[in-house]
Amino acid sequence: MDPQTIRLPDSILPADGRFGCGPSKVRAEQIEAIVAGASTIMGTSHRKPQVKALVGSVRAGLTELFSLPDGWEIVLGNGGTTVFWDAATFGLVDRRSQHLVFGEFSSKFAEACAAAPHLDRPDVVESPTGDHPAPVASPGIDLYALTHNETSTGVAMRPVRPAGADSGAIVAVDATSAAGGLRWDPAEVDVYYFAPQKCFAADGGLWLAACSPAATERVERIAAGDRWRPASLDLGIALTNSRADQTYNTPAVATLIMLDAQLRWMNGNGGLEWCAARSDNSAAIMYGWAEAREWATPFVTDPGKRSSVVATIDLDDSIDANTVSAVLRANGVLDTDSYRKLGRNQLRVGMFPAIDPADVHALTQCIDAVVESLAA
Ligand SMILES: *Cc1c(COP(=O)(O)O)cnc(C)c1O
Repeated sequence: MDPQTIRLPDSILPADGRFGCGPSKVRAEQIEAIVAGASTIMGTSHRKPQVKALVGSVRAGLTELFSLPDGWEIVLGNGGTTVFWDAATFGLVDRRSQHLVFGEFSSKFAEACAAAPHLDRPDVVESPTGDHPAPVASPGIDLYALTHNETSTGVAMRPVRPAGADSGAIVAVDATSAAGGLRWDPAEVDVYYFAPQKCFAADGGLWLAACSPAATERVERIAAGDRWRPASLDLGIALTNSRADQTYNTPAVATLIMLDAQLRWMNGNGGLEWCAARSDNSAAIMYGWAEAREWATPFVTDPGKRSSVVATIDLDDSIDANTVSAVLRANGVLDTDSYRKLGRNQLRVGMFPAIDPADVHALTQCIDAVVESLAA
């Protein structure tokens, strides 16, 4: 039989079929917020009070969501997380960084630092995919690069400041898929950076970084020095603009509106704890379902390292995961494909706060139905 002809009954379909890990489900209210600003803020100058107030609201909303201590600042700029890595090689790493590498995303910042001619060769601490390494304090490391949630493998780690690190060393955490869905403690971190297309359910193309006083001091010190850097990647310029609720060059206003709407929804419902508990709930449904199936297994063997925002579920070799994803797609259940470069027979499911746990439950019923039909 042609798998594409499998039709799932409406009664088991999720209310919203978007389970991608980024870009991810945008809530209807966020789109409505754009429409509400159709003639008052969309298409208006980002140097005027209306858009500046929006940027200010995003910065305040993030400060509230993360319960940031006094002195922390939200810095933002264009380009997304990948561009932030490049900016960090110019304006955040002093000489030598250490990187915990346990998947595709965590390896990218390490590569950027390794390629930067003005930096010393980075220290890379690696673990196999499906696990994560621990930071190793060592002399001469001035920036520890951690990843809160490795989106390519579904491994989450608790960001911690390595005991015994040089005084003045900072901890920078790639939280692109974690921010807004996983708990963290600002005492353990100096830079918590991300983009809005995952837990914040907006579009890509922007980077945001919550920065401790130690981090902003580092940025200002490097910016005052004579290291060459392109202006668009200059964190000192980004910091100055952010303090004025602006970006160095023109931002996508619609993305800011969607991000702001999501922050209001998150803070209005109870803040980070509420968001994290909602993702925990989805994760319990997803992993519990997989453990109860003979033919499905959570890829991450240590339950303590399983992400509650990105689930990776291996399927038995007798069931082709790509076919399962394709049948789901044909039925409007989207983006359950595994991270291609991981090369496993796997489904990957976004469980960001915007995604309703009831829809995650419906997804498990849909997968059961597809597998049953394929076996028939
Ligand atoms: C998605 C993702 C990135 C890449 O973000 P861009 O905004 O596309 O550059 C980096 N790190 C992690 C952990 C991610 O999940």
